[in-house]
Amino acid sequence: MKLATLAVHAGDRRKLGPHIPVTTPIYAAASFFYEDIGELDRVFADEVRGYCYSRYGNPTRAALEELVSTLEGAHRALACASGMLALEVALQLALVDRPKRVLASDALYGATFKLLDNVLAPFGVETRYVNACDLTQVAAALEEFRPSVVLLETISNPLLRVAPIDRIAELAKTAGTVVIVDNTFATPILVRPFELGVPIVVHSATKYLAGHGDVLGGIVLCDEAHAANLTALERTCGPVLGPFDAYLTMRGIKTLPLRVERQCENARQLADWLRHHPRVERVYFPGLPEHPDRETIQRLLPNGLYGAMVSFELKDAGRDEVFAFLNRLKLIVKATSLGDVHTMVLYPAMSSHRDVPPKQRERMGIRDNLVRISVGIEAIEDVIADLEQALAG
Ligand SMILES: *Cc1c(COP(=O)(O)O)cnc(C)c1O
Repeated sequence: MKLATLAVHAGDRRKLGPHIPVTTPIYAAASFFYEDIGELDRVFADEVRGYCYSRYGNPTRAALEELVSTLEGAHRALACASGMLALEVALQLALVDRPKRVLASDALYGATFKLLDNVLAPFGVETRYVNACDLTQVAAALEEFRPSVVLLETISNPLLRVAPIDRIAELAKTAGTVVIVDNTFATPILVRPFELGVPIVVHSATKYLAGHGDVLGGIVLCDEAHAANLTALERTCGPVLGPFDAYLTMRGIKTLPLRVERQCENARQLADWLRHHPRVERVYFPGLPEHPDRETIQRLLPNGLYGAMVSFELKDAGRDEVFAFLNRLKLIVKATSLGDVHTMVLYPAMSSHRDVPPKQRERMGIRDNLVRISVGIEAIEDVIADLEQALAG
């Protein structure tokens, strides 16, 4: 055979013998072939399980989906190219056969507001916002607005409020409303929304799931009732995560329980230290006894695992003083994103809430002296020492 022929055939499609790889390899194949075309026909017809085309399914992606489904207790999962795409797919999934009305928490990830207001609104999706921590407000809105979907986050950003998703799921069930929970901040280690009666869950896998700052990805998980529509969306639109990123995410998740436990313990110690620092005005952390959602936190979060995000306000500081403080940090990484193995710091007024007008930001309680920390797995003494020297400067 000629080189031009060998170049596209040699090495590939060899039977690998009786061995099984210890971890799932990266299946970088767009399509899959069978020696008998009849077998491919049966795969296309869903008569036998198998792979035909990577938009329909890919073994690396499927391994990750099975892993996250198992951790969350979902019926089915779809790994997407980003957390935002996973949210878009989840909303499409919930709204496809229902009136286009969404009741959303007024404390969401910045881009989620934009998804609702700028991307979905032009397609006729109407959104109303409520304080999801106020059950009376949620119940009134369910009654009056009759939404098809309630959209919530387990732990809000950056003020770390914890909504009573179990109670909201109960109310929503009675009202015939589908709840979507963005479980990115809590991870299944802290909260498993399916066990609380939530039918659709979303993750930005970019954060704790992958956990190493090297992947952009998302996951949609659903119950049995939504599984067929999720498959239809997957097969028609292919909003999928590629096999390389699926592999990295799966590798990251193997240490998720270890990382999250360490990060939560580090965050607990850091919050306690910050609370006693003279330059700190106020600390936001779900583990503090004065937290406004104390009762919900005690009911929903495991004892001692309050998440690994800590926000705090610098005393008598504006944007310039906060920037000077941030520039003095040597170890803590000044960058957007969260949930990584390294501790990161962010200024919400500059990043997640940049596009929110200052007056509205103030009303939301996000002041110009607010800093958000995503606590990593380092020795917490080193993180505290870095903050100590930066606060002293
Ligand atoms: C980061 C994040 C998203 C968006 O995820 P991407 O992977 O950045 O697209 C959505 N929700 C929450 C809570 C997030 O933190």
